[in-house]
Amino acid sequence: MLSVSLPRLKERLLGLARFGALPGGGVTRPCWSPQHEAARAWLLGECKTAGLATWVDPAGNVFGALGADRLSTAAPTVLTGSHVDTVPEGGILDGALGVMAGLECLQAIREGTARPARPLAVAAWSDEEGRYGSLFGSRAFCGRLDAAAIPTMAAVDGERLVDAMSRAGFDAFRAPEAAAPRDSVAAYVELHIEQGARLEEAGIPIGVVESIVGVRRARVVFHGQADHAGTTPMERRRDAFLAAADYALKARELVVSRGGARAVTNVGVVQVHPGASNIVPGRAELVHEMRDPDPAVLERLARECDALARDVGRARDITVEVRPMSATTPAPCAPRVQAAIEAACASLGLAAQRLYSAAGHDAQNLAGVTDSGMIFIPSRGGRSHRVDEMSDWDAIERGANVLLHSLLRLAA
Ligand SMILES: [Zn+2]
Repeated sequence: MLSVSLPRLKERLLGLARFGALPGGGVTRPCWSPQHEAARAWLLGECKTAGLATWVDPAGNVFGALGADRLSTAAPTVLTGSHVDTVPEGGILDGALGVMAGLECLQAIREGTARPARPLAVAAWSDEEGRYGSLFGSRAFCGRLDAAAIPTMAAVDGERLVDAMSRAGFDAFRAPEAAAPRDSVAAYVELHIEQGARLEEAGIPIGVVESIVGVRRARVVFHGQADHAGTTPMERRRDAFLAAADYALKARELVVSRGGARAVTNVGVVQVHPGASNIVPGRAELVHEMRDPDPAVLERLARECDALARDVGRARDITVEVRPMSATTPAPCAPRVQAAIEAACASLGLAAQRLYSAAGHDAQNLAGVTDSGMIFIPSRGGRSHRVDEMSDWDAIERGANVLLHSLLRLAA
């Protein structure tokens, strides 16, 4: 039975991990950064070495293909892939696994005797982590990019997408041209680390993803009044930070009590202005993120949090603005792809469990244009988005082999 080469896959995963490597382990490789662009160039070289046709689309997505040198409606391609950008101080597997395993699968198929009926391709989707906009590359590919928003898309530190892409040699205004020709993708399947602890705790090697959460991000801005922190009486202060803090605590309570068991929420960015210890904060901004696999629950929670922000502001004499930043749609995975993954697991003698993805993934955009699905492998200790993110090498090998046989089934 055809199988992947773990030594080759391991060498490529460790090779990719050099770009943006941190001294204490882990990587920082945001999309369009010099580290990311060097990784992109290296990836194109690896795809060529593996005997694949390569191209880069106007949204910066990298493709390596077997049996075709572009996507076409005449011969729809079975796609796999993930991303090579990372969060700040991230691990070496999030995204990297899906791209390197996809490349390994295509190389193994090219070197083997199986002759798939359909072309196959591996994609590295740009800016999955959403420094400038969640799931940017796959959104462009799936025709979901809002062209009107491009001029104002910016990172948390204010850097504009237009400038970041231009530095990397791309024209952001052309990104919508990355939209795939209609019906040119026959199916999409992505291998990823679980980034949670459910598989490890259950002792199950493979997860078959049934649905993927939607993620909503909003910038909540609290406008108070800057004042002298010594001479202004406590009862006269309009402290914007305290309103933000009050909101953060109450929003957590609201999402936990009103969201059912699966909703989660996080405030990971807080900015206080002018930011001096002897000035009462005049303005505070935070980025509030929420996730749920059910679109209706997510929509309701977003409305309730908006109302909460205004209530908190009113009680403290603070003006509040809620500026939506991004919203991805929760997506179900295609039964046909889930069945292909389960059949691949059965043929390899591996137990599998169905679960939902609590993290957002490019596969949810692909679900809008084709039958889309995902394979999960256990993450050690459920750790992810941190430098010690890891999975056992034999778990990686099992996952890559499940991807290989799922691709062969989907391309048969
Ligand atoms: Zn990822």
